[in-house]
Amino acid sequence: MGAAACVTFAACAEQPPDSQGRLEVQWTGSDTGKVAGRPTVEWCDSLRLLQIQVVRGDTGVALALYPGDSMLGGTYRVLLPARADSAPPASAVAVRWFASTAIRGFQGDSGSVIVERNRAGILSGRFEVAAKSATDTRRIRVHGSFRGLIPRPATAGCFPKPTPRDSEVDYSMESTYFRRGFGLKAEIEERLAADYHSTVVETLRANQYRLTVGPLTFRLAKEFGFCYGVDRAVDYAYETRAKFPDRRLHLVGEIIHNPHVNQKLRNMGVRFLSRGEDGEFDFSDLTAEDVVIMPAFGVTMADFERLRGIGCVLVDTTCGSVLNVWKRVDGYARDGFTALIHGKHYHEETKATASQVMKYPDGRYLVVRDMAEARMVCEFIEGKGDAGALASHFRNAVSPGFDFDQGLTRVGLANQTTMLSGESLAIAEEVRKSVVRRYGEAAAVEHFRSFDTICSATQERQDAVVALLTEPLDLMVVIGGYNSSNTCHLAALAHSKGVRTYHIEDADAIETETGAIRHQPIGSNREERVEEWWGTARLIGITAGASTPNNKIGETIARICAISGVGPQLQALIA
Ligand code: SF4
Repeated sequence: MGAAACVTFAACAEQPPDSQGRLEVQWTGSDTGKVAGRPTVEWCDSLRLLQIQVVRGDTGVALALYPGDSMLGGTYRVLLPARADSAPPASAVAVRWFASTAIRGFQGDSGSVIVERNRAGILSGRFEVAAKSATDTRRIRVHGSFRGLIPRPATAGCFPKPTPRDSEVDYSMESTYFRRGFGLKAEIEERLAADYHSTVVETLRANQYRLTVGPLTFRLAKEFGFCYGVDRAVDYAYETRAKFPDRRLHLVGEIIHNPHVNQKLRNMGVRFLSRGEDGEFDFSDLTAEDVVIMPAFGVTMADFERLRGIGCVLVDTTCGSVLNVWKRVDGYARDGFTALIHGKHYHEETKATASQVMKYPDGRYLVVRDMAEARMVCEFIEGKGDAGALASHFRNAVSPGFDFDQGLTRVGLANQTTMLSGESLAIAEEVRKSVVRRYGEAAAVEHFRSFDTICSATQERQDAVVALLTEPLDLMVVIGGYNSSNTCHLAALAHSKGVRTYHIEDADAIETETGAIRHQPIGSNREERVEEWWGTARLIGITAGASTPNNKIGETIARICAISGVGPQLQALIA
């Protein structure tokens, strides 16, 4: 790589202050390497360009996202820099290494960058790019992620982006499909804060995630609660209500798996569409005048087509990380591979992901819940299983007409974004080994593909629980919906490390009058009420699933303090 210096978009010559976040990049191919560090993140308003750059020694990487709405997040298709520069509003990304003002390395020419923006304007995302040498025929594949990025306005000819006024945003009702919000952030900010903010959580955050109240010490995992996808989905739902105050507003399923958030939406007049006894959503009442929100985990291809057919306004909040999985399974199906998905076949996200393969006449999928089911598949790949037994066991978890003999000759691994990442990786490795045993190492590439599609938010929350458990906690409380996959996994993770763990659905599961707790034991699907659960606990770990708002975390801590007789001390601390 050539020596890297300063990034070079003409009007953005001066370096802004560093972001506090992190960018990590790896590349393989005719050149191999990686770079990681705290990037500079510049927003150049006059060029309508967001640039993220990190330079280490003589190597650097820069992502340039066009055009202006990149600040709102989205999925950016990678084009060669010249096309990207000249083709707004077509979104584009360049990945390249710089030497002074010249590109001496590789330029991205395909792939995508997914950018998510939370309520505080902090950016996270990931990217996967194919790049070619600027000077010869060499090619590399580049992938990486970034998180915690705070864009700074670039100076010297660039100006901070103004808040878009109504007149600047295309609200034309000729358009019936929206997936970038409506620019009504300012209008919903106060309501969101009232519904989900927590002073207790902010106090913990400001105190290195630790809070001592009388004899109790609370330790909050460093990554917890709303992920970027949920943040975005909730924002869009509130914006949609503000945008269409007089229209009937519906939601396909639940916006996320959290009863409190769903109730807030109900209170705003959002009607929830649920599956009937036949397992299908009933859209018969919908008309073209209605507005329909699609949730963070997406909807199936068939449901999407039905909604498009009705002609109603669609607000699509599908998370970028879910779209990333869809892209993977789409590629598998296109290339004749069966999508082998680690997930729960009845989960809305997995249903939506699996449906992506049905775009192709020969598209197939099989969903495995855990390692035990994966091993059944592995045995069959190795020629030991019985197709009839498998067909019976997986009858609800395969594409229609799935033929095990033919369908398991070429498999591509993917996963529901909220599964335990370690298990997903182990399953992929187990399947790979079986493929190698069956076809040999050299031919394995013809029969096996894999890509880790656990989202970074899920991974970070799981890592944060593991980090939290390095302290000798007396017990752990995990807050989130019982049907929230990522919350269940956080609870199972804590439990597996030998810590007494209580998974509660909501703060009111801790009864302040009796001191009892209602929780769902790990591995069970029934709530239990326990009177004597507290004992002599003093050091309490707290975390929450990606769909749990901060106020529910704060209320949980307040209730624990109340039953321990230290409620007034907590109030004094946060006053
Ligand atoms: S858990 Fe991951 S995939 Fe799901 S909404 Fe959150 S960020 Fe997106």
